[in-house]
Amino acid sequence: MKALDPRDPAGLAALLDDEERAVATAVRQFCSEWVDPAVAEWFERGEIPDIRGLAKGLGALGVLGMHLEGYGCAGMSATQYGVACLELEASDSGVRSLVSVQGSLAMFAIHRWGSEEQKREWLPRLAAGEAIGCFGLTEPDVGSDPGSMRTRARRDGDDWVLDGRKMWITNGSVADVAVVWARTEEGVRGFVVPTDSEGFSAPSIKHKLSLRASVTSELVLDGVRLPADAVLPEAAGLSGPLACLNEARYGIVWGAMGAARSALHAAQTYAGERTQFGRPISAFQLTQQKLADMYLEYTKGVLFAIHLGRRKDAGVLTPEQVSMGKLNNVREALEICRTARTILGANGISLEFPVIRHMTNLESVLTYEGTSEMHTLVVGQAVTGHAAFR
Ligand SMILES: Cc1cc2nc3c(=O)[nH]c(=O)nc-3n(C[C@H](O)[C@H](O)[C@H](O)COP(=O)(O)OP(=O)(O)OC[C@H]3O[C@@H](n4cnc5c(N)ncnc54)[C@H](O)[C@@H]3O)c2cc1C
Repeated sequence: MKALDPRDPAGLAALLDDEERAVATAVRQFCSEWVDPAVAEWFERGEIPDIRGLAKGLGALGVLGMHLEGYGCAGMSATQYGVACLELEASDSGVRSLVSVQGSLAMFAIHRWGSEEQKREWLPRLAAGEAIGCFGLTEPDVGSDPGSMRTRARRDGDDWVLDGRKMWITNGSVADVAVVWARTEEGVRGFVVPTDSEGFSAPSIKHKLSLRASVTSELVLDGVRLPADAVLPEAAGLSGPLACLNEARYGIVWGAMGAARSALHAAQTYAGERTQFGRPISAFQLTQQKLADMYLEYTKGVLFAIHLGRRKDAGVLTPEQVSMGKLNNVREALEICRTARTILGANGISLEFPVIRHMTNLESVLTYEGTSEMHTLVVGQAVTGHAAFR
């Protein structure tokens, strides 16, 4: 009988096929060369010094828009995309966020709702990481309730003129193109906004204590004039941005488990090496209970992610199921990180170890792409038939 792998006691690796495992290996190798040696310093400094180089590296790896077909995208399965998200977030949620926003929000919006010209203009460059994209939905006064958005687009002759502000926008100040959602006379529409447009600016948001290895910005739209063909022709109403968010949330279901795995492995290693009262702390029952519970929740989370990935590949995944996955996996990943932090004692608060970085990152992941409360209400509505949003 094969010996149990102490890093994968439930044998989860056996649930992936050869191609999925190959994606995991390639992304892990990329991250161990490009991200892991530097990410604690990026986090501490609150910046990624060569984000364009990183984007190009991720493009060459093939993970930008990897689940989209054509236009230079890799055309991989949803499960392969999920596996890549897990490995990226095992390094840092900020790097996974860069990839999610680029692929699942900006590129997906153009791929799903864009014109042929918009696709040809932007998707190949975004897939290669030669251009960076962002997605502007949230506003200073509007988060969970995007139907109340204030950013407006009005017609002026054939042109569109955009006015408003977006807040908490990942990749904003480094983006070449922004997909911006605005209220029009015909309802909410999406616009492809080159960031060198006059009247557009994207100041960085400072003082974050979470996702510090990720660019987060405000978008200021001050009379931004766009040609008639800047609108995404196929998206009308809130279903446009919501479909994009559903894509990104799916990646988070997997990604959160990557952060959890990294924290769990750090705690496991530390517990084996740290001696108190003459024994490794891993020999104490209380530590073992923590590690056992962490492995149980991690295993359940990965099983859930694989299940949802298989459903997405089969074309039967529903938004409510994605909400269940995001709600559960982010919550449990955060709990795993918090428990891991206690196992490391004082070292648990140090950036010398990945645990506190993952823990604080997950506080953002808990909130973005729909807060845990919003996903609870989505699941609540699915199981009771009553909407309790207002
Ligand atoms: C690091 C980071 C990156 C982000 N990147 C992007 C991005 O790229 N693009 C983008 O558009 N947005 C982005 N966001 C914004 C994110 O999606 C929003 O923060 C999120 O949707 C929540 O909105 P809010 O912060 O305005 O909170 P609010 O909506 O004001 O909610 C505050 C609290 O009230 C609760 N609440 C609200 N309504 C209800 C209700 N009906 N019932 C019960 N509880 C309720 C919420 O769950 C939450 O706990 C990012 C956020 C962060 C932190």
